[in-house]
Amino acid sequence: MSLTKDFVTSCLTGVPDPIRGKDLVSSGALLWVSACDTYASVRLNAGPQAAAPVLQQIAQLAHSKVAQIAQRNGQQLDSFIVEFVDDAGGVVHTAKFGGMLSAGESPKPSPPPGSAGHEPIPGLNKSAKPAGAGPLPGVRNIIAVGAGKGGVGKSSIALNLAVGLARRGHAVGLLDADIYGPSMPTMLGLAPMEQAVLAGRLQPFYVHGIKAITIGKLVDDGRPLIWRGPMAHGAFKQLAEQTAWGELDYLIIDLPPGTGDIALTMAQSLTLSGAVVVCTPQKVAQDDAVRAAGMFKQLGIPILGVVENMSAFIGDDGKSYEIFGKGGAEVMAQKLGVPFLGAVPITMSLRENSDKGDPTANFEGQQAAGVRLREALESLAANLESQAALAAMRTGAARPVLTIT
Ligand code: ADP
Repeated sequence: MSLTKDFVTSCLTGVPDPIRGKDLVSSGALLWVSACDTYASVRLNAGPQAAAPVLQQIAQLAHSKVAQIAQRNGQQLDSFIVEFVDDAGGVVHTAKFGGMLSAGESPKPSPPPGSAGHEPIPGLNKSAKPAGAGPLPGVRNIIAVGAGKGGVGKSSIALNLAVGLARRGHAVGLLDADIYGPSMPTMLGLAPMEQAVLAGRLQPFYVHGIKAITIGKLVDDGRPLIWRGPMAHGAFKQLAEQTAWGELDYLIIDLPPGTGDIALTMAQSLTLSGAVVVCTPQKVAQDDAVRAAGMFKQLGIPILGVVENMSAFIGDDGKSYEIFGKGGAEVMAQKLGVPFLGAVPITMSLRENSDKGDPTANFEGQQAAGVRLREALESLAANLESQAALAAMRTGAARPVLTIT
């Protein structure tokens, strides 16, 4: 049985808050909860001047309570993360726990991000009521991320949107459909892990709070990926439809750059909530992005928004340098009549974290540039969430209404 946000929240009503009194929920300390299959994470307000040992103790109590009740209910808890933030939202302490508690046993720490070996995900909720229609009935929102050309940071944005949405408490999947140059094995740190297949279904990797699948783990590392139309079509359909996604609030699809076969296959086989177009501020990049937007329009996929990546370089000193100009993508979005979701600066840390396979670190920056990156990514995820909700309302409104007279 999958853990749910409500379950975790109700467990935390039984954990006293030594800083503010009452329990962690009624004291207002609990800011958000994320639960997906057998994994849960919570964010708590650290309160004024709380020392690390106090925070660690609260985290331990929270973990013990959730683990105990889960065990009693016959539910599995494989990982529990408690993040404490200050009033400005900066992370001041993180505690990670793995596994269930057995009598007298203290919680064992989780492996570091990106280094965990892949295990088939237990508890896939196959019997649950389907969330949507089509070949992925458990997936509520499918969102494609595309770009007019390669190298603009499309995969980086897709990944950080996925992690950002997961950190907002959603169950999120990421499908790396960039079959010509899959970058997720590196960006998610999947190198030491094996692709598992269980009962004929691909088991997604559970990393950084999301479930991910990538063509990069299904082909030989060094082999050039030469796909012809039908092969590309088959590869995409297999990844999308033969993966045990379970229940997801969002499935983010990282498309190959340009306007090709895969987007067509995707549009034919899945019902999308919409697409996100990524571009950089230069005029030439925008021309390509307009073409990508045109493709989504032609395929009948609504555009949820445009993201400007590499909008300015933020140095370690916090100063910003507008290398490629500024605001071009926003103007382009206005001209296209689609929302502008936000701008992500060029930072050393984003590139380093991508190469290290640790996107979670993009959301934990403490230095000037890291904080700006975190704020940009958090706001991007929040804006996408709003646009997806609006798109769902529009689709709902467009449905015929049955009138009985
Ligand atoms: P695409 O999917 O469009 O080909 P990627 O997401 O693979 O692009 O990004 C290309 C390279 O640029 C990667 O090394 C990535 O880490 C880096 N990169 C992307 N966006 C940023 C950014 N905002 N700041 C720093 N490096 C970035």
